[in-house]
Amino acid sequence: MREDYPKTILELERRFATDEACREYLFQLRWPDGFFCPRCTGGPAWPASRGRLICRECRHQTSAIAGTIFQDTRTPLTLWFRAIWYVTSQKNGASAASVQRVLGLRSYQTAWTWMHKLRRAMVRPGRDPLQGTVEVDETFVGGEDPKDGTWVEQKALVVIAAEEDGSGIGRIRLATARDATRRSLHRFVKDAIAPGSLVHTDGRTAYEGLEAFGYKHRQTVLLGHKDQGAAGKLLLNKWVPSTSKKDQKQTK
Ligand SMILES: [Zn+2]
Repeated sequence: MREDYPKTILELERRFATDEACREYLFQLRWPDGFFCPRCTGGPAWPASRGRLICRECRHQTSAIAGTIFQDTRTPLTLWFRAIWYVTSQKNGASAASVQRVLGLRSYQTAWTWMHKLRRAMVRPGRDPLQGTVEVDETFVGGEDPKDGTWVEQKALVVIAAEEDGSGIGRIRLATARDATRRSLHRFVKDAIAPGSLVHTDGRTAYEGLEAFGYKHRQTVLLGHKDQGAAGKLLLNKWVPSTSKKDQKQTK
């Protein structure tokens, strides 16, 4: 393993240090305007163990990962996020053996299963585009040199699109982008999402102008969101009282 690999992992660690940080990120993606119950559309929710949320109105149980590839997984989300980052940053696709090696998985079968789950989620030309209301978010993580496959400090951008589905997140698309310019982000949206859809993004100006390509566009500006990483304190303060101060620091 290259010496620079741990540094890159540390960078990922800072962003998604804990399962809470991963859940907050997914929560933000799922409910950018705050929690509402997928059954009765009411809110707010009581936080319960293992990231579950219980609707105060109708007691319906849900979570930020309900309906996603992460549902029912025994694997820590922190490891899933590493896998996502690794698989999406491989230009020509990752092999199961490399996923196993990089993530330190004992089982080749597990690595193979993960890789295929993630591949199904990735943006590829000609796939059925997402539609309806689609949340789009982006996050910077460490990257890998596409030329020789060594781990480098340079930042890569992972962009994620999640289809809204009444009872949970619908289909998800992941891709890496070269940068966070308008050109790159628009390209991702056009590759992943059908025109006519409502695209919901953060306040990043590079997303502006999507209407020109036939999308409806809604932006939610979250103050401090980009500085704090993940979904930030906003969420922690709002509805996750059980999260420790230590975790809040780690997610910065
Ligand atoms: Zn409810």
